[in-house]
Amino acid sequence: MSENIQAVKVLSKTTWTPNLFSFTVSRPDSFKFTAGQFVRLGVNPSKLQHYKQLNDPQSQTRAAEQAPDEDIFRAYSIVSSPFDEVLEFFSIVIPDGAFTSQLQHLQVGDELLLNTMPFGFLTLARYQKPHPKDLWLLATGTGLAPFLSMLQDLKTWEDYEHIVLAYSARSFEELAYVDKIQQLQDDFGSLVDNPARLIFIPIVTREPMDGALTERLPKLLLEGSLQKRAGIALETDSAHAMLCGNPEMVEDTKEALKTLGMVMNRRGEGNIAVENYW
Ligand code: NAP
Repeated sequence: MSENIQAVKVLSKTTWTPNLFSFTVSRPDSFKFTAGQFVRLGVNPSKLQHYKQLNDPQSQTRAAEQAPDEDIFRAYSIVSSPFDEVLEFFSIVIPDGAFTSQLQHLQVGDELLLNTMPFGFLTLARYQKPHPKDLWLLATGTGLAPFLSMLQDLKTWEDYEHIVLAYSARSFEELAYVDKIQQLQDDFGSLVDNPARLIFIPIVTREPMDGALTERLPKLLLEGSLQKRAGIALETDSAHAMLCGNPEMVEDTKEALKTLGMVMNRRGEGNIAVENYW
């Protein structure tokens, strides 16, 4: 096993919908990362308790077919803060996906592998200081993860005046972490002087939901409804915008932001930073 790979234990699991779940694992003492970064997580399906617990011969035959004895790795963005004692991840189950179709069977006590080399540039450190006053975080689905990590880092609350978190899911039940988001201002904003104000905008696109916007992000930006709901303008000289989630959303929203005069962030300068979640 490479020296960067360490075994970690599953400590908890939260199921949001049949296809969406979160889990926490133990954090090796030496593992450091910046909010917004990714790591590679590995699973060896044949070692999951789920398969070991299938006792009857028929199930075992099925398990042997379903649970290959090999390590499978995938990139995951970290939900928890760089200062937490545990590492949290947010996952979708991809039908027939080699990794997540195994990972969905995770149980507390299972062992995963963690490649302790974090990577990715969707971090606030990529922007030159001083920061402008507004931070716009635009996510779809599990692309919410890096923003939750940033919002649990006190520096984020110190560096901006307004933080807009717009989070789009197909249905109300797929809008995960809403209670936690609503608690963030109290939990983290109270720890710094003059904290940013968090403006949370839920978006549900395939069913009506009280209090949520219903259109896709690029349309909301171009027609100005997102800015209207936020109660602040989106101005090129006073805003950073970060996008994470569905690659098509990232592409379309990036174009919408460019139409509004924003520019891609390169070498510290420019507003827009993006990460495709898959
Ligand atoms: P999704 O299709 O990404 O939808 C989530 C939200 O994003 C919805 O509100 C959706 O609006 C919106 N959206 C989609 N395309 C958009 C665009 N071009 N511009 C603006 N908004 C857009 O749903 P999901 O359930 O999170 O993911 C769907 C599938 O993606 C999964 O079933 C899986 O196969 C794949 N996926 C793969 C990975 C991976 O790691 N490989 C990770 C996550 C997801 P609408 O309702 O209008 O479409």
